[in-house]
Parts: sequence; C-alpha cells; structure tokens
Amino acid sequence: MRASGRIGIVGAGLSGAVIGRELALAGHQVEIFDARDHIAGNCHTERDKDTGVMVHVYGPHIFHTDDTEVWDYVNSFQTFMPYKNRVKTTSQSQVYSLPVNLHTINQFFGKTFRPDEARAFIQTQADESISDPKTFEEQALRFVGKDLYEAFLKGYTQKQWGCSPTDLPASILKRLPVRFNYDDNYFAHKYQGMPENGYTALVDCILDHPNISVSLKTRFHRTQKQDFSHVFYSGSLDGYFDHEFGPLGYRTLDFERFEYDGDYQGCAVMNYGDVSVPFTRITEHKHFSPWEEHERSVCYREFSRECGADDTPYYPIRLVKDKEQLTQYVERANLETSITFVGRLGTYRYLDMDLTIREALDTARSYLARIAQGLSMPAYLHSPI
Ligand SMILES: Cc1cc2nc3c(=O)[nH]c(=O)nc-3n(C[C@H](O)[C@H](O)[C@H](O)COP(=O)(O)OP(=O)(O)OC[C@H]3O[C@@H](n4cnc5c(N)ncnc54)[C@H](O)[C@@H]3O)c2cc1C
Repeated sequence: MRASGRIGIVGAGLSGAVIGRELALAGHQVEIFDARDHIAGNCHTERDKDTGVMVHVYGPHIFHTDDTEVWDYVNSFQTFMPYKNRVKTTSQSQVYSLPVNLHTINQFFGKTFRPDEARAFIQTQADESISDPKTFEEQALRFVGKDLYEAFLKGYTQKQWGCSPTDLPASILKRLPVRFNYDDNYFAHKYQGMPENGYTALVDCILDHPNISVSLKTRFHRTQKQDFSHVFYSGSLDGYFDHEFGPLGYRTLDFERFEYDGDYQGCAVMNYGDVSVPFTRITEHKHFSPWEEHERSVCYREFSRECGADDTPYYPIRLVKDKEQLTQYVERANLETSITFVGRLGTYRYLDMDLTIREALDTARSYLARIAQGLSMPAYLHSPI
C-alpha cells in the first residue's frame, strides 16, 4: 500500500533539495536519500583542512543566470558575492585571454586591430568553402579558420571529449566562439556570483525545513519506490534500470590535487589547449573566494576520460549511440508510474545550476498542481530527447 503524502527524493543535489523544499513548504513529508556522505551533489564545496581554502570538490562552479526568479531564490538562502569568471588559456607557449576576444586576436596575430578590422580579418581566416558543416571541426574552421581553431579549440576539445573534433557534431559549436571587443567575462549573463560560504551551505539552508529528512550514505534502489506516494529521482537514468540497455556514455574527471605556498597561477581557471599537455585545466580554488585571504593555495589539475562503472559520471556524451540507448531508457521510464526523473543525471543532459533550479521549481509546482486536480505526474516533465 502507498504511504499517502510521503515523498521520496533521490539525490541531495540542487534538484533534490529544491523539489524537496517546495513540497515540504506545501505540507508534504519529504525523505531525501543520497549515496554520498555529503549534500549538494556535484556542487559540493568543502573548506580545506590544511589551507582553509573553500574547495569546489567536483570541479569549478560559477553561478550565472538571466533568470531573475532563480537569482532571487538562491539569494534568499545565501549572500552571493560578486564574482566574474575570467578564464585564461596556455597555448603554444603563451598565455591568452578566453573566450577568444579582441585582446586574444591581437596578441595571437601580433596586430592592433579595432573591432571592425578584427571582424573583417577573421572573415578572411574563415574557411568559406565549407558550406554545410557537419562536424565540430568543420564548424570551427568555417567560423574562425585553422589558426585560431588549432590554438584554442582543437586540443582542448579533443582532451575534453576523448575523440577527434572530426567525430563530434557541429551542433556542439552553435555560435561564433569569438568576441570583437575586450570583454573577457566568460559568461554573458545578467547575474553572476559565488555563494559566500560555498554551495554546500546554500543547499544546507534549502534543506533546512522540519518536513525534510536527509539520509546520507544511503543508496536508493527502485524496489523502494513502493514506500512513497511519489519519487523524484535525480540519480542516473540507466542506473535506475540496472543498466538494462547498457551504460549511457559519460565523461568522468580525475583531479590531481596539489598545494602551493602563495599564488600559483594568478587566476581561478587556466586552460591548457595543447594536446601535448595531458590535463585540460588547472583550477586554483582560492581565487573563487577573492574576499578571503589565504597564504597557501589548493589547486586541481583536471584530467578528462571515459567514465567506467565505478567512476563518477560528469558530462553526458550524447553522441548517436548514446541517443539510441537513451531513447530505449526513456521509453522504459515512461512505463513507470509514481516516479519523475529529474536533474542532470535523471534526464541525461548537461544542466547549469540555474537551469537545474528552474526545472526543479517547475517540477515541484507541476506536481502540486496535478495532485490538486487528481492528475498523475509523468516520468518526464523535461524530456531528455
Ligand atoms: C565539472 C563541472 C563543472 C560545472 N560547473 C558549473 C558552473 O560553473 N556553473 C553551473 O551553473 N553549473 C555547473 N555545472 C553543473 C552543475 O554541477 C549541475 O547543474 C548540478 O550539479 C545539477 O544538480 P543535480 O541535483 O541535478 O545533480 P547532482 O549534483 O549530480 O546530484 C545528484 C545526486 O544524486 C545522488 N545519487 C545518484 N544516484 C543515487 C542513488 N541511487 N541513491 C542515492 N543517491 C543517488 C548523487 O550522489 C548526487 O549527489 C558543472 C558540472 C560539472 C560536471
């Protein structure tokens, strides 16, 4: 028999926390499970014991959004400190500014172009013989030409995805990856910031409600679904079905931690564009909290590789093979009742934090509206396909 009103939530990341809170506020008893020993999922931050630096344990996270409701939402739980993501890249023995902007172009080509001149110049570089780009490489060559592609896009993409950019679809590079001004703010969103006490403190505040209980180090299996009137599942879709149709493809990351006395690289994120360098980037965590002072520094060298059965899934690959499998899983999920798949793993999509929160708010509201009308909730509100 179903327990009435008792909601099960799998995952104490942003998806699970936001859905849990909205339903708790509406009077539901919410039980959240997470297999890990901490809340906040992949956004988890932790103060390093040796140095006192706030570390982004699963890689760098910068909050950026155009969604005013989501911005107000996160700010109602934590003070967000002003933060602008300014990324540098080391390529062919020089340091450049990213995204590729007027400074990068002038430095790279040894010029003093003004914006219109740079635009005209890049047009002369672009390979216009490619009329219908099918691959990432063709798209990049058509947009920016061989030199900028090889210095700033080719090696990094190859390391990040573990395959040649000739095997990746053109759709990955949707827009011209170049700015014709000196704006080096990585994100072009209205709001950008960093939670003063880290993302785990933010999620802790979201979860702070008497109707919410959280069980850590507790892996949820689908046989437990019957204990709840409804389950919101932010674990991996293929994991839920015990990989019945094979594992969905993910990239995982390895972080090689090292400490440094002082300032190691002078910025939070330094990419490495050359294929001869095995890592994709180095993150120096203390630069994510410029309002704090720390003498010592904690850095992560980041390596990307294919995700194995025991690894943490980071980026969904979503190539043709994965999409075929995904369709099988989604069809299977649509046969389920009393469960909704949410979040980056449940929907097998790369989701930024703001979109994760937006979808979680919409999911909770949709659920409340449907039960008020006696309607059931579908397996997917946000289809992965
Ligand atoms: C390297 C990296 C960098 C990123 N940088 C940014 C950034 O700069 N800005 C930005 O906006 N977004 C960024 N993101 C995206 C951000 O991490 C996601 O938006 C966010 O983590 C999604 O939250 P979620 O709750 O859906 O998933 P998760 O955070 O993955 O949470 C899911 C949780 O479910 C738990 N779980 C899974 N299966 C089970 C099970 N069976 N039983 C119990 N628990 C289970 C997991 O342990 C996990 O804690 C980045 C992502 C990555 C990978």
